[in-house]
Amino acid sequence: MSYSFLDTPIEYLKGVGSKRAESLKQELSIHTFDDLINYYPFRYIDKSKIYKIKEINTTNSYIQLKGKISNVRQIGQQRAKRLTAVFSDDTGSIELVWFRGIKWIKDKLVGNKDFIVFGKPALFNNKYNIPHPEIEFEDQEEDKLGETLQPFYNSTEKLKAKGLGNKAIGKLTKNLMLKATDILRETLPEEIIQKLKLSSKEEALLNIHFPKNQHLLAKAQSRLKFEELFYIQLNILQSKVNRQQKLNGHVFSKVGKFLNDFYSQNLPFQLTTAQKRVIKEIRIDFGSGKQMNRLLQGDVGSGKTLVALMSILIALDNGFQTCLMAPTEILANQHLKTLSTILEGLHINLGLLTGSTKSAQRKIIHNNLISGELHVLIGTHALIEDNVQFKNLGYVVIDEQHRFGVAQRAKLWKKNTIPPHVLVMTATPIPRTLAMTFYGDLDFSIIDELPPGRKAIKTLHLYDSGRLKLFGFLKKQLTLGNQVYIVYPLINESEKIDLKDLMDGYESITREFPLPEYAVSIVHGKMKATDKDYEMQRFLKRETQIMVSTTVIEVGIDIPNASVMVIENAERFGLSQLHQLRGRVGRGTDQSYCILMSGYKITTEGRKRMEIMVRTTDGFEIAEADLKLRGPGDLQGTQQSGILDLKIADLIKDEKILKYARNLASDILDADPNLSLPNNKLLKSQLIKLFKSRPNWGLIS
Ligand code: ADP
Ligand code: MG
Repeated sequence: MSYSFLDTPIEYLKGVGSKRAESLKQELSIHTFDDLINYYPFRYIDKSKIYKIKEINTTNSYIQLKGKISNVRQIGQQRAKRLTAVFSDDTGSIELVWFRGIKWIKDKLVGNKDFIVFGKPALFNNKYNIPHPEIEFEDQEEDKLGETLQPFYNSTEKLKAKGLGNKAIGKLTKNLMLKATDILRETLPEEIIQKLKLSSKEEALLNIHFPKNQHLLAKAQSRLKFEELFYIQLNILQSKVNRQQKLNGHVFSKVGKFLNDFYSQNLPFQLTTAQKRVIKEIRIDFGSGKQMNRLLQGDVGSGKTLVALMSILIALDNGFQTCLMAPTEILANQHLKTLSTILEGLHINLGLLTGSTKSAQRKIIHNNLISGELHVLIGTHALIEDNVQFKNLGYVVIDEQHRFGVAQRAKLWKKNTIPPHVLVMTATPIPRTLAMTFYGDLDFSIIDELPPGRKAIKTLHLYDSGRLKLFGFLKKQLTLGNQVYIVYPLINESEKIDLKDLMDGYESITREFPLPEYAVSIVHGKMKATDKDYEMQRFLKRETQIMVSTTVIEVGIDIPNASVMVIENAERFGLSQLHQLRGRVGRGTDQSYCILMSGYKITTEGRKRMEIMVRTTDGFEIAEADLKLRGPGDLQGTQQSGILDLKIADLIKDEKILKYARNLASDILDADPNLSLPNNKLLKSQLIKLFKSRPNWGLIS
């Protein structure tokens, strides 16, 4: 009964109708009454406080003013167009400015009446103004529920054009809430509510839309945040439990000749404690009879490849084939070379399959995979194609996972009747909150230690004016026999400028470092794979001393003799990319350097990124800073997942609530993995309701 009311399509709400409903669906994903009730305000104005213009002395908080408007003017043309107005109260005046929605706002700014203005003052030419304030008329104070905190709902230009601005959304919500209060169901078990002293659902919804005071608003927010994060965690953890129950895994019970011989004859150094620990974790999974899905995080240079290799040897010892998947051809090639060197004498058959493998060669590989002769297939995403069939694939390692799509990875599961174990390796540390959400159903391993003898990379930030200094420094380094990378932003189809920058850079470098004394390589994404590889090889063999390139060398390349990384236009790179690039040096025993070049004109955020890079080399710290600077929505690979479309919780600010929610969800599932006990009935029905139409996150990996 109550179900059917809340599930009513939004067009049937009084004041909506089919046209507005269409826009609500498109713009805000509001399809039903329930969706509208769960569309929360993004901000509240404290109506009890009205500031005076002369009180304004800071630019960092929102304030509310009351006064009159004069001198409304439209200035500038097209993109530079803006609307200004003078706003005055009895203590002074201040300019208001709008850059968007000018026409709509202009129509509202008429008449000699009192306006309420809400916004965040900014300093411009040493004077305060308020950009893009929200505005309303003083006489619109009717129908309040007596609240002093007034909700503000996000709207869009399209919705505003249909008369569905903040106010109208608020009104619709209020009408609906008045009708719905009696039939709103509780969505969390009484036990949890009691234990955590949460508001009831009804109370929380009433106070999120029409808060009676700050305290009740805060209570409503924490109840709703908790609920949101809790059900996400319950869903992720349950799909993990499900998978573990359903999916059997190959049992790799023994360690045999391959690993033993490697360990005693080929291992070039001692494993770090962290490497040993991770190998142990993987071995436990291998023996468990369940399919492994493990995410291995380890900072650049921490020695993930070796862990991958040793776990591959265990799979081979148990009679299974394996594959190692890399995001680029350069990297796949490099893996092949590293592995064939380090595995010498062990009689392990390696194969390489990439986009540029010739069809004759491809055929041989296909045959050797089917016959079982090939032990380890190394390649790019070419190896997930359907026609690549194995005799007995048991284990897949995916290097630098963020380059692969979720669906592509899922394809690998189907390459054997029992799905292979999967190890996903990433050198871009994932902030904990994000990992718990986005990769919540994988098991984690972390290599938190670098091999001994590494010196911390020194990082500096230079402006273009420091170029002479840079060249002097590079000469010194080259004289010492060290090699240098100089990286430019990636060449974009649309951006001819990037290619020009790269070519200009290459020219000035060859002028500064001429033959025969020096040799310079160049590599970029527009080159043929074979040419790229040729240049990489020249650099690797030290036939060239300087490598000028785009970010194609970003991931994975391992050339220990290269000790200087120069990043041009460093302000254009994101933090995790800068960190990746920096990780290309510091791999040998020499002191390494990373030099970030930028112009003087950089944004505040760009400057912050430079500061963070100079300050720390800790990948986890950088990842956290990145998340804070950019917000989770921008992180690579997460956009399309929908997992971060949170209604109210915030993965950065609500870390504590998230952890609590995860622990509680995990305890509940430990006691009742299928949520089949009577007192978990509500949890189960909520999960079904909430996630029936969502992507199955359990298949990430
Ligand atoms: P990443 O984790 O970035 O993939 P790699 O696996 O490429 O790191 O390892 C970086 C470098 O460290 C390689 O040259 C590798 O041979 C070396 N290395 C790995 N493990 C150890 C170790 N335990 N002791 C010394 N050097 C190691
Ligand atoms: Mg690597």
